[in-house]
Amino acid sequence: MHNDIKEVLISEEEIQQKILELGATLSEDYKGRNPLVICVLKGAFVFMADLVKRIEVPLEIDFMAVSSYGASTKSSGVVKIVKDLDVSVEDRDVLIVEDIIDSGLTLSYLIEILHGRNAKSVRVVTLFDKPSGRTVNLEADYTGFNIPDAFIVGYGLDYAEHYRNLPYIGILKPEIYSS
Ligand code: 5GP
Ligand code: MG
Ligand code: MG
Repeated sequence: MHNDIKEVLISEEEIQQKILELGATLSEDYKGRNPLVICVLKGAFVFMADLVKRIEVPLEIDFMAVSSYGASTKSSGVVKIVKDLDVSVEDRDVLIVEDIIDSGLTLSYLIEILHGRNAKSVRVVTLFDKPSGRTVNLEADYTGFNIPDAFIVGYGLDYAEHYRNLPYIGILKPEIYSS
């Protein structure tokens, strides 16, 4: 275990098992369609890579980057498109892949944009959900794990751009934030 981690909240095995289940459900729900799967950078990149390998329908991928948090652990409420999609979403079945939904601000903004660009459908799959953090009314269509109101890192999720490469989900030691 990494020296900065106080506790492993969700193990690598639990994450991979959950992704198998999500992949099976999505394969069923998107049968006969050709979804555009959008990864919300950077946090979702690890989940995206593992998830698409388990979706057994023809699909396309694209990436979008939005900024909201910086190095802080709380949402600023300000969401900015840092990198836009390369392809058009018009008349496409869009599946947004998120790492975690907390306030829901980032996602509600994204969904609004994609509807405005005339996507045929917009659904959200998130690996982690913190329902207690919600400030807007928003539910993911597919959720991996509900987690308590704690700041987690690993499996794509960072603190000040570190820890994204951990294969599990962990909680940082308190002294990491204060140093
Ligand atoms: P929201 O807009 O829903 O408040 O925040 C969503 C984004 O905030 C996530 O995509 C992620 O980048 C970041 N975030 C929210 N909660 C956590 C957390 O517990 N750990 C980490 N590392 N990032 C988080
Ligand atoms: Mg995210
Ligand atoms: Mg972050």
